[in-house]
Amino acid sequence: FSPWTDPESVPLIRFEGVSKRFGDFVAVDQVDLSIHAGEFFSLLGASGCGKTTLLRMLAGFETPTSGRIFIDGTDVSAIPPYERPVNMMFQSYALFPHMTVEQNVAFGLKQDGLPKAQIREKVRDVLDLVQMSRFGGRKPHQLSGGQRQRVALARCLAKEPKVLLLDEPLAALDRQLRERTQLELVGIQERVGITFVMVTHDQGEAMTMSSRIAVMNSGCLEQVGTPVEIYEYPGTRFVADFIGAANMFEGVVASDSDDLLVVTCPELESDLTISHGGSVPVGAPVTVMVRPEKMVVQRDRPSEGMNGVKGIVADIAYLGDVSIYHISLPSGRRVEVLRTNLRHTGEQELTWEDEVHLAWHPANAMVLTR
Ligand code: ATP
Repeated sequence: FSPWTDPESVPLIRFEGVSKRFGDFVAVDQVDLSIHAGEFFSLLGASGCGKTTLLRMLAGFETPTSGRIFIDGTDVSAIPPYERPVNMMFQSYALFPHMTVEQNVAFGLKQDGLPKAQIREKVRDVLDLVQMSRFGGRKPHQLSGGQRQRVALARCLAKEPKVLLLDEPLAALDRQLRERTQLELVGIQERVGITFVMVTHDQGEAMTMSSRIAVMNSGCLEQVGTPVEIYEYPGTRFVADFIGAANMFEGVVASDSDDLLVVTCPELESDLTISHGGSVPVGAPVTVMVRPEKMVVQRDRPSEGMNGVKGIVADIAYLGDVSIYHISLPSGRRVEVLRTNLRHTGEQELTWEDEVHLAWHPANAMVLTR
């Protein structure tokens, strides 16, 4: 077990059957979820799936319609936001415009009545941590978006919460800065050891930054797992589709033996073998999922034991490091295959209209029953 999946370890945060209704509308539906101390945990989902509402209930800005939330073993349902051991960094950063960077960071500490010398020391330490020491005397309007984000982070960290909540913390940054900041934020989280819970709709961001991810859909948790688990072993069609690209084939289980599941796929006019089938009854309708990078496209017939389907190259999208090949099957169905653009490997050059075989190993497919 990793520390986050060990059933024996006591979670820092626990949602127990938490639901939130706004009138008739169910924004969060019966969520059970545990988050452990030291995690960088992400709530991931499309707009409107309820992730912000879940985060706001943890912060105390919304009250669950039913269910309970525990932080460090205490039911926090009746505890107001400012008395919870959590701090929230808002998308807008919410800095006071008339205060300097140092004053912004010191504000919450002053309110807590900390002695001046201690405030000075803490402000210095956290501004150091986010590499903003040089800008202590500036006002927010004299900072870039990325710098404002760091100040907001410093202000939250100065209060030393047990849990830091981040609502789309990088949404306002341009792509390059966002990618750099992702890694910096992970580095800071590792150094301070505070549990981070982040809301994001960006799957790449969640994959890069998180120890674990909860994928949400229509108020429900679809799957909770490490980035690798969620990508390699999606539990549902929704997750397979939402995280990364996926080729999905509908079929019916024809046989199940020796850990090899055989699925008849009318669309492919062939049977597929899958070695990660689990136990699925014969005759059950299933979806077979193969990631684009787990297929090869070649002129030759695939070797014995591989899955193979014939097609023609319909389109090639050159992306520099890789190319996406769209292969058209006799049924009219298109399949995506990802090829790395290595030079001098002796790999076949392929072009439009070439007749090809798609091939993949039985271990490189997944069977989805939901
Ligand atoms: P986004 O990424 O767009 O912020 P989200 O996944 O964070 O989306 P939420 O903000 O949690 O979604 O909202 C979930 C659903 O609940 C939405 O359909 C939203 O319209 C609804 N909702 C949220 N707050 C309220 C409210 N105060 N009153 C009524 N409906 C609300």
